[in-house]
Amino acid sequence: MRKYIIMGVQGCGKGTQAKLLCAGYDLTHLCVGDIFRWNVQNHTKLAARIKRIMASGNLVGDEVVEEIVRRRLDEHDWNYGFVLDGFPRNRPQAEFFLESYDIDATILIEVPDEVTRERIQARRLCAKCGLDYNLMFHRPAQDGVCDVCKGKLVQRLDDNEEAIRTRLKNYHEKTAPIIELFKRKELVVVVDGTRSPDAIQADIRRQLKLPQV
Ligand code: AMP
Repeated sequence: MRKYIIMGVQGCGKGTQAKLLCAGYDLTHLCVGDIFRWNVQNHTKLAARIKRIMASGNLVGDEVVEEIVRRRLDEHDWNYGFVLDGFPRNRPQAEFFLESYDIDATILIEVPDEVTRERIQARRLCAKCGLDYNLMFHRPAQDGVCDVCKGKLVQRLDDNEEAIRTRLKNYHEKTAPIIELFKRKELVVVVDGTRSPDAIQADIRRQLKLPQV
């Protein structure tokens, strides 16, 4: 069983790295942002409470987030382990998590803000199947159209200039300080996220001492 948290500023590539790690070792990708986006897309009861907060780039309230994480982990569909992506994002969430769960390591992907800003603005998402694209590294064959399902590619609601500013501010003020907390309690693996996705993944696996697959 392998249990990891992946952290880093928005646009650092943590979603991509989490997916590569999960694919390699049969882990389950638990992404809080994806759970929220699914709710918004499907107009659930929860969506009404979180839609505006998400679009502004602010953090959803801790009680709501903690409940979502608790419920998701309680599903126990992660036989070989998980990569938790997008949680915790502030001290209360980190304390809640450390009180109730244990993990093997926290992966921290470091990328300067100027780089993530550019990457986020180039980010596109298929409105139909949810596949991620980036106009800098992973362009669709046809502009604005998903390669897989031919759905329309759109920008995330919170990938606009103002929301990005809020998200980066929140990251530096609220999320970055909790890394110290994890450093004291757990193993923190720091990787340079400015390299290619494959090079970053290889570095993560090497630092986690994972067997080659
Ligand atoms: P992400 O895709 O991880 O950038 O998450 C998208 C949005 O979902 C964030 O900007 C927040 O509004 C919300 N969100 C995701 N994870 C959390 C969290 N741990 N705490 C509070 N809000 C969150």
